[in-house]
Amino acid sequence: MASRLLRACVVSTQRLKTCSALRPLPRTFATAGIPTDEEQATGLEKRTLQSLKHGKDPWSIKKPQTYAGTKDDPHIVPSVGTKRLVGCLCEEDNTAIIWFWLHEGDMQRCPSCGSHYKLVHHELPH
Ligand SMILES: [Zn+2]
Repeated sequence: MASRLLRACVVSTQRLKTCSALRPLPRTFATAGIPTDEEQATGLEKRTLQSLKHGKDPWSIKKPQTYAGTKDDPHIVPSVGTKRLVGCLCEEDNTAIIWFWLHEGDMQRCPSCGSHYKLVHHELPH
Protein backbone atom coordinates (compact mmCIF):
# COMPACT_ATOMS: atom_id res chain seq x y z
CA MET A 1 0.00 0.00 0.00
CA ALA A 2 2.72 2.41 0.98
CA SER A 3 4.76 1.58 -2.11
CA ARG A 4 1.76 2.33 -4.37
CA LEU A 5 1.32 5.72 -2.75
CA LEU A 6 5.03 6.41 -3.05
CA ARG A 7 5.03 5.39 -6.72
CA ALA A 8 2.00 7.59 -7.39
CA CYS A 9 3.76 10.55 -5.83
CA VAL A 10 6.91 9.96 -7.85
CA VAL A 11 4.94 9.70 -11.08
CA SER A 12 2.91 12.82 -10.37
CA THR A 13 6.01 14.89 -9.54
CA GLN A 14 7.69 13.71 -12.76
CA ARG A 15 4.63 14.73 -14.77
CA LEU A 16 4.59 18.09 -13.08
CA LYS A 17 8.25 18.66 -13.91
CA THR A 18 7.83 17.69 -17.55
CA CYS A 19 4.64 19.71 -17.96
CA SER A 20 6.08 22.87 -16.40
CA ALA A 21 9.18 22.54 -18.54
CA LEU A 22 7.10 22.55 -21.71
CA ARG A 23 4.83 25.44 -20.73
CA PRO A 24 6.19 28.98 -20.77
CA LEU A 25 6.38 30.51 -17.33
CA PRO A 26 3.77 33.11 -16.50
CA ARG A 27 4.95 36.69 -15.81
CA THR A 28 6.37 36.71 -12.32
CA PHE A 29 8.66 38.98 -10.39
CA ALA A 30 11.43 36.44 -11.00
CA THR A 31 11.14 36.63 -14.80
CA ALA A 32 10.16 40.26 -15.39
CA GLY A 33 11.51 41.93 -12.28
CA ILE A 34 9.73 44.42 -10.09
CA PRO A 35 8.04 47.14 -12.18
CA THR A 36 9.42 50.62 -11.68
CA ASP A 37 7.35 53.60 -10.58
CA GLU A 38 7.27 54.87 -14.18
CA GLU A 39 6.01 51.52 -15.50
CA GLN A 40 3.12 51.29 -13.08
CA ALA A 41 2.21 54.98 -12.74
CA THR A 42 -0.98 56.20 -14.39
CA GLY A 43 -2.78 59.48 -14.90
CA LEU A 44 -1.53 62.53 -13.02
CA GLU A 45 1.32 60.63 -11.35
CA LYS A 46 2.58 59.47 -14.76
CA ARG A 47 2.47 63.04 -16.15
CA THR A 48 4.34 64.30 -13.10
CA LEU A 49 7.07 61.65 -13.42
CA GLN A 50 7.46 62.45 -17.13
CA SER A 51 7.78 66.18 -16.34
CA LEU A 52 10.40 65.51 -13.67
CA LYS A 53 12.29 63.35 -16.17
CA HIS A 54 12.45 66.35 -18.53
CA GLY A 55 13.71 68.60 -15.73
CA LYS A 56 10.41 70.35 -15.02
CA ASP A 57 8.78 70.66 -11.59
CA PRO A 58 5.11 71.38 -12.35
CA TRP A 59 3.77 70.83 -8.83
CA SER A 60 6.70 72.32 -6.90
CA ILE A 61 7.49 69.00 -5.24
CA LYS A 62 11.25 69.45 -5.26
CA LYS A 63 13.05 71.18 -2.43
CA PRO A 64 13.00 74.96 -2.98
CA GLN A 65 16.24 76.43 -4.22
CA THR A 66 18.05 78.69 -1.80
CA TYR A 67 19.29 82.14 -2.72
CA ALA A 68 21.73 84.47 -1.04
CA GLY A 69 19.42 87.47 -1.34
CA THR A 70 22.16 89.68 -2.72
CA LYS A 71 21.97 91.86 -5.82
CA ASP A 72 23.73 89.15 -7.86
CA ASP A 73 21.65 86.28 -6.42
CA PRO A 74 18.20 87.65 -5.48
CA HIS A 75 15.42 85.58 -3.95
CA ILE A 76 13.30 84.41 -6.91
CA VAL A 77 9.58 84.60 -6.19
CA PRO A 78 7.34 82.83 -8.73
CA SER A 79 3.93 84.34 -9.37
CA VAL A 80 1.04 83.82 -11.76
CA GLY A 81 0.10 87.49 -11.48
CA THR A 82 1.93 90.81 -11.54
CA LYS A 83 2.46 91.15 -7.78
CA ARG A 84 2.78 88.93 -4.75
CA LEU A 85 2.81 89.43 -1.00
CA VAL A 86 6.21 88.41 0.39
CA GLY A 87 7.13 87.78 4.00
CA CYS A 88 10.78 88.23 4.92
CA LEU A 89 12.13 86.65 8.07
CA CYS A 90 15.10 88.98 8.11
CA GLU A 91 17.21 87.06 10.63
CA GLU A 92 17.01 83.43 11.67
CA ASP A 93 15.83 84.04 15.21
CA ASN A 94 13.39 86.87 14.46
CA THR A 95 9.85 86.38 15.70
CA ALA A 96 8.31 89.05 13.47
CA ILE A 97 7.87 88.73 9.72
CA ILE A 98 8.21 91.79 7.51
CA TRP A 99 5.46 91.72 4.85
CA PHE A 100 5.61 93.74 1.65
CA TRP A 101 4.22 93.65 -1.89
CA LEU A 102 6.64 92.49 -4.56
CA HIS A 103 5.81 93.80 -8.03
CA GLU A 104 6.82 92.43 -11.43
CA GLY A 105 9.77 94.16 -13.03
CA ASP A 106 12.93 95.28 -11.28
CA MET A 107 14.29 93.80 -8.08
CA GLN A 108 12.98 95.08 -4.78
CA ARG A 109 14.59 95.12 -1.37
CA CYS A 110 13.16 94.14 1.97
CA PRO A 111 12.44 97.41 3.86
CA SER A 112 14.01 96.02 7.03
CA CYS A 113 17.07 93.95 6.11
CA GLY A 114 17.67 94.94 2.49
CA SER A 115 17.56 91.45 0.96
CA HIS A 116 16.90 91.49 -2.76
CA TYR A 117 13.75 89.90 -4.22
CA LYS A 118 12.69 89.44 -7.82
CA LEU A 119 9.28 88.41 -9.11
CA VAL A 120 9.34 85.91 -11.96
CA HIS A 121 6.26 84.99 -13.96
CA HIS A 122 5.26 81.37 -13.45
CA GLU A 123 2.75 79.38 -15.50
CA LEU A 124 0.42 76.96 -13.81
CA PRO A 125 0.88 73.39 -15.06
CA HIS A 126 -2.74 72.92 -16.14
ZN1 LIG B 1 14.06 91.20 5.44
